[in-house]
Amino acid sequence: MDKETGLSEETIAEIAAHYEAIIRLIGEDSAREGLIKTPMRAARALAFATRGYRQDADEIINDALFENDGSRIIIVKDIEFHSLCEHHILPFFGTVSVGYIPDEKTIGLSKLARLVDFYARRLQVQERLTHQICHIIEEKLGAKGVIVSCTASHLCMRMRGVEKQSAATTTVDWSGEFDNRPDLRAEFFRSIGTTNSGF
Ligand SMILES: [Zn+2]
Repeated sequence: MDKETGLSEETIAEIAAHYEAIIRLIGEDSAREGLIKTPMRAARALAFATRGYRQDADEIINDALFENDGSRIIIVKDIEFHSLCEHHILPFFGTVSVGYIPDEKTIGLSKLARLVDFYARRLQVQERLTHQICHIIEEKLGAKGVIVSCTASHLCMRMRGVEKQSAATTTVDWSGEFDNRPDLRAEFFRSIGTTNSGF
């Protein structure tokens, strides 16, 4: 078992054989010197980019939850992520900002970033990624409310020219106390530097 990706060498070799076929089918010479190692490299890269499937949220958190010291709202801004769009298997990437109203527990920044990776490293759509991050923080921390804003650039749009090069997509989800508190949502957006009153 490969520790980095959670896949066996056998499975990675099987994925590589498919990449070799793909290289041939697009009209390339898969035996060309520059491409000989490409199927294996591509298989390992895909295995890494999808390793969230082989991870466990509880193992990631590993009881690294802290007693709430009295913070009313905790905001973590601009956690970077890289994911793969499930429609085209092309990257989309950007940042996630999280706000939550803790009850008894808070979580360290590095664990929060790893939870983002846990869901980003799969075949995804941005809306579901945003929702899953929101949901797991609520569930594992017992937070009174969670709000998540995700801003990303999608290569499937940029490479195919259907979107302006600079365009980014923002998705937002929230739960709990944020439902009835537009003032708290506004505080969150102010704090992360967006004045997106549309939410
Ligand atoms: Zn796509």
